[in-house]
Amino acid sequence: MNWNSLQATQPVPIQLLKGSLVKEKLPHAFIFEGEEGTPKEEAAFHLAKAFLCINRQEAEPCQECPECRRIESGNHPDVMVIRPEGLSIKKAQVEQLQKEFTYKGMESEQKIYIVYQADTMTASAANSLLKFLEEPDGETLAVLLTDNLHFLLDTVISRSQVIHFSALQEEEKAEYFMSQGEGETVAALRAYLASEETLSNKEEPAAWIVQGRTLVIQLTEEVWKRPQQMLLTLQDKWLNHFIDRDDIQVGLDMFLYWYRDLLYTKLGHTKLAYPDQVERLQKEALYRKEQTIAWQMEAVLEAKRQLAANVNPQLLMERLLLRLQEGS
Ligand SMILES: [Zn+2]
Repeated sequence: MNWNSLQATQPVPIQLLKGSLVKEKLPHAFIFEGEEGTPKEEAAFHLAKAFLCINRQEAEPCQECPECRRIESGNHPDVMVIRPEGLSIKKAQVEQLQKEFTYKGMESEQKIYIVYQADTMTASAANSLLKFLEEPDGETLAVLLTDNLHFLLDTVISRSQVIHFSALQEEEKAEYFMSQGEGETVAALRAYLASEETLSNKEEPAAWIVQGRTLVIQLTEEVWKRPQQMLLTLQDKWLNHFIDRDDIQVGLDMFLYWYRDLLYTKLGHTKLAYPDQVERLQKEALYRKEQTIAWQMEAVLEAKRQLAANVNPQLLMERLLLRLQEGS
């Protein structure tokens, strides 16, 4: 992960963070605010790396120095994490952390607090944190994460820089990918695939998506018309492209959006993840009932759950294709 991959779904907040890093103008406290599922936590830890990295290039941490590595493995002495104990974050927890910071004879002047569900801080915990931040003893940065900005104290909000994370619409994401030079068909599908991290770790994400989507299109066609071939294609091609579990989750999403497109086509929607396949989708939709397609989507979702529960991937994919074929 890097700022670029985070920027794919969060262009505005990430641009702001990069700007403050490059200009060396960080506030005492950030509040990362946004609904559940937005990458606030990932951004906070990437910011921690950028804050402490000894080889930072512009805004980007190197990922290789001891500081970056210790943050990655979750045991950097100058990165402190606070989470609610029970229903709230209490003053004693904040004080305990501040003591630990002092005892550790810190390696540098710079330290960072990451506070989960900051809206659960009691008033005295929040005041204790803020007082500590404002003491002029070197550079301390707090990053408060919250899904509910309006539950935070006004005194906290007014002394922090609030960064809003918003869930992007698929069209906005597709536009972003196209602005990065990706073709329309890749961008349209990529916008729907949730695992941006899996994708951005590929050497050539766009090429990987193109090959993957071709295989998914081929398999859905075989499921429909040539079921005697589908298990061979799965074995020889599909499983050689979608190799580990993260890959296969992405591959299953590609299936899911194929069948969703089929349903959309049937219902007359035009916002598709496979916009170049309209003709085939229309043909296939003629042969399907809505209920059947919904059932096929459910089969894919079930496969995703089983994959997450460690079922053998090959077995799981074979079962899925057979179920999809029953529904064809
Ligand atoms: Zn580094």
